[in-house]
Amino acid sequence: MAFDVVKVREDFPILAQQVNGHPLVYLDNAATTQKPRQVIDAISHYYLHDNSNVHRGAHTISDRATAHFEHARKNVAQFINAASTREIIWTRGTTEGINLVANSFGGQLKAGARVLVSAMEHHSNIVPWQMLAERQGVTVEVIPVDEAGVLNLDAFHDMLDENVALVAVNHVSNALGSVNPVKEIIQASQAVGAKTLIDGAQAIAHWPLDVQSLGCDFYVFSGHKLFGPTGIGVLYGKEALLEAMPPYQGGGEMIETVSFAGTTYNQLPFKFEAGTPDIAGVIGLSAAIDYLNALDRPAAEQHEQSLLAVATERAESLDGVTVIGRSPVKTAILGFVVAGIHSSDLGMLLDQQGVAVRTGHHCAQPIMEQYKISGTVRASFSFYNTHEEIDRLFSALASARKLLS
Ligand code: PMP
Repeated sequence: MAFDVVKVREDFPILAQQVNGHPLVYLDNAATTQKPRQVIDAISHYYLHDNSNVHRGAHTISDRATAHFEHARKNVAQFINAASTREIIWTRGTTEGINLVANSFGGQLKAGARVLVSAMEHHSNIVPWQMLAERQGVTVEVIPVDEAGVLNLDAFHDMLDENVALVAVNHVSNALGSVNPVKEIIQASQAVGAKTLIDGAQAIAHWPLDVQSLGCDFYVFSGHKLFGPTGIGVLYGKEALLEAMPPYQGGGEMIETVSFAGTTYNQLPFKFEAGTPDIAGVIGLSAAIDYLNALDRPAAEQHEQSLLAVATERAESLDGVTVIGRSPVKTAILGFVVAGIHSSDLGMLLDQQGVAVRTGHHCAQPIMEQYKISGTVRASFSFYNTHEEIDRLFSALASARKLLS
């Protein structure tokens, strides 16, 4: 059965608006996704009825908030097929998840240990490792990426040895859309005793994830790229590894007992959750997962892929337009440059016609540098986008080019 995009769009009230006198065409889904009514309702229901601090057991509505909060953890564990809820740590997002691992797991690494990242990482999977290198004397090395935006796996295999402590790569590049062969990367890393961290920020919205089948040690993602709220994310980690890691931040919730003679830490997952968490965010994320579980995800992905295929073909047919990121396996991200025109000028003119795209380096300056460009225009699609919106993108692009030439 065909994917019913018209019906799905009814769940996303924000899409039905005019921007600058035109119906909004939202093609910035890699930056953040829109939220279905079900998520917005779950958050307001929480604030209207259940708002209370969690894990205090002090009174009825606190118990209710705690039950919803911990149910959400189960929901996430099932969604990614984690073995236990002890492996699900709430974070503020992908960035905080990576920083947690860089500080806690990274803090245990010896000088000389090697951390491998790819040339197509988001800054959030580069800078925490560089900061660790400064503190700890580990080295950060870069797995090369070829002209098409495909990881050079031969080079990666050659880089591996027993001094590699961690391989940290994205599942999908936010700048290029390339889907990386993470299962192969994980297996090869395991063979030399290296741990793996997968940045799933751009993958999680597009297809079901099974962390046990992947076999990664850590997997991180943000709720806001999964149709949930901002300010909440997930770090999945294998239990034995998390158990052996020291806490990241200190404070309430993460302790068992505190005295000035010494403090003992709480059990997993609470050991890594200092302070009052984003309870409404957790509840909103859980509602987003319920929403996705009720959706025909294979059909949604197929629809996204058909949008990508059509948009790519149209971009490639235009004189002066170069698609950046031509991996044969991609999520629905189309990055391109137009000869002689700055991407931010194009972005502004598209916006004036109601078309929302992202322009610039997409927090991935090293890969932009490799292509010798300052940035791209990035149109990123979700299952609620339509083929008519692709038409709108290209007619707006044609008008913008006319104006700028
Ligand atoms: N990694 C990738 C691949 C991303 O696309 C992003 C967000 N653009 C991040 C990490 C950082 O996510 P957040 O800002 O939600 O922490």
